Amino acid sequence: MKEEPRKSLYYYWFLAIGIILILNMVVIPTYFNTKIKQIPYGTFLEMVDDGKLGKVEITDTKIAATANDGNDKEVYVTGRVEDPELVKRLVKSKVTFSQVIPREASPLENFFTNWILPIGIFFLIGQLIMKYMGNRMGGNAMSFGKSNAKVYVEAQTGVDFTHVAGQDEAKEALMELVEFLHHPEKYTSIGAKLPKGALLVGPPGTGKTLLAKAVAGEAKVPFFSISGSEFIEMFVGMGAARVRDLFKQAQEKAPCIVFIDEIDAIGKKRSSGQFGSNDEREQTLNQLLSEMDGFDSSKGVIILAATNRPDELDKALLRPGRFDRRVPVELPDLHGREAILKVHAKDVHIDTDIDFNTLARATAGASGADLANIVNEAALRAVREGHSSVNQSDLEESIEVVIAGYQRKGACISSEEKKVIAYHEIGHALVAAMQKHSAPVHKITIVPRTSGALGYTMQVDEQEKVLMSKEDLFNKIVTITGGRSAEEVIFNTITSGASNDIEQATKIARAMVARFGMVEELDMMACESVQNVYLGGDASLTCSAETSARIDAIVLSIIKEAHGKAKEIISNHRTDMDRLAAYLLEKETITGDEFMNILQNLPPDTPREPAALPECH
Ligand code: ADP
Ligand code: ZN
Repeated sequence: MKEEPRKSLYYYWFLAIGIILILNMVVIPTYFNTKIKQIPYGTFLEMVDDGKLGKVEITDTKIAATANDGNDKEVYVTGRVEDPELVKRLVKSKVTFSQVIPREASPLENFFTNWILPIGIFFLIGQLIMKYMGNRMGGNAMSFGKSNAKVYVEAQTGVDFTHVAGQDEAKEALMELVEFLHHPEKYTSIGAKLPKGALLVGPPGTGKTLLAKAVAGEAKVPFFSISGSEFIEMFVGMGAARVRDLFKQAQEKAPCIVFIDEIDAIGKKRSSGQFGSNDEREQTLNQLLSEMDGFDSSKGVIILAATNRPDELDKALLRPGRFDRRVPVELPDLHGREAILKVHAKDVHIDTDIDFNTLARATAGASGADLANIVNEAALRAVREGHSSVNQSDLEESIEVVIAGYQRKGACISSEEKKVIAYHEIGHALVAAMQKHSAPVHKITIVPRTSGALGYTMQVDEQEKVLMSKEDLFNKIVTITGGRSAEEVIFNTITSGASNDIEQATKIARAMVARFGMVEELDMMACESVQNVYLGGDASLTCSAETSARIDAIVLSIIKEAHGKAKEIISNHRTDMDRLAAYLLEKETITGDEFMNILQNLPPDTPREPAALPECH
């Protein structure tokens, strides 16, 4: 929007006053061109007696007169003094005189000047000020409770279930709602009450909004969407008014879908007595609850809401008759990721021989939004590189961009440091390769990235594991400590480059001890509870200080053991390390196949059998 420079209100006030002043001083006097001369009463009487006056007008308080020399433009004025002789004198000097009769205003006129006019003026000023304030606040501040500015209605979303890849369980659960919107009579005739709302729960970017749109698209009904945070507004009471307005609009358009994103913004548990509760939010929530109770679901208004903090929602929202359905929308698994990549690949020109499976395996933990972003980054890269369509290397590079940031081409790293980085990365890869439980290496690079990573080893899981055994986790820690171990064994120093590894290793070890019950000493006791599962999952300790100290000690011993094992592996493969590091330093980026070939003393480009993937049905 173009921002127009606005003059302040004062500017207009001064302009108006200026115009009035000019009118008074210049225009009106020249138009009427009358000169008024104040004279004392005595002088006036003398003039009367001398016969100098022509016409005299007497009002209650003043006397005005013109001279008898024919000049009407000069008027003499004097105050009226109680003088019984005046009339006699005037008659004697033969001037024409008259008493001005005070005009009696009509009651209607009185009413107008005393009431209508002032009210009108105040109203006008009020309007001006409000308009001015409204503009200043960047919106129409006075349009209380009209949510139409923020509610987005789409008559047709143009999205259907084919646009949502993976998420089969969620689609199935939502399919019933689509059926209901199509044939409500089928359900009502048997006496079934359909849920009024469903809550889509999952981490950010997993396609909750997309699913809601797809439900509306499949059912071919209008789609209302609003974000929870938009309910909370400048004025107390606005949120509740907005909710009322939203439901009114929705009922007029029924059947339809109402989608409330980030419902946790209003649906947080109502204050449990703590200081500083949020009245506005509670009012909004109460209004939402009563609206949900109030409307008749057989009309076909279905409310979908999305959140990534389900445990913070008020219990009242989740009881039957409100959001009684909970549809989990989890991060996609291997098959899901492959399907999502394929859906988004349809939108770009792409080579026909893309190996989506490898891409999906390299993106463990990525959400649907991340994957959409990867495809788009790849398309951008294809344009930059001058390809006519997106190819495999574009996609692989863009995965790294999304995970680790762009390449820092200009970064200046000394050859000594480069060597340390190369050995560090080869250390990770070698330790991983030497443990049969660890995933094979897909790619190793020592090209620095904008995220701060100086290099990394991309591991690709052969198969996505639902369960991790104690050995899997321990081996993972061994692999993570492999980088630092290589620095120690080869250069006999340690660097700051392992901080991220240290953090990860500690996290895994701590989870093993405190959450997964993997050490005998604590058996199956839970010592940590996880909050915000969908938002990174911060764990908080639930045990005593003594146990907590014990946990720290056990975590440390696990990491020490893993570190020792990694060092041992590297010491035993010293010559392999040198060979691999030299090759990596030369090429900067090497593939998993090249790595395995060199490890086995084969020429780097020997073709390798792709690892057999276990099928799962
Ligand atoms: P959320 O509401 O869960 O935060 P969105 O629905 O806004 O996530 O998803 C953001 C984008 O990610 C979508 O517009 C879509 O392009 C992509 N996306 C996410 N999940 C999927 C999926 N399962 N299939 C296809 N695209 C997806
Ligand atoms: Zn590392």
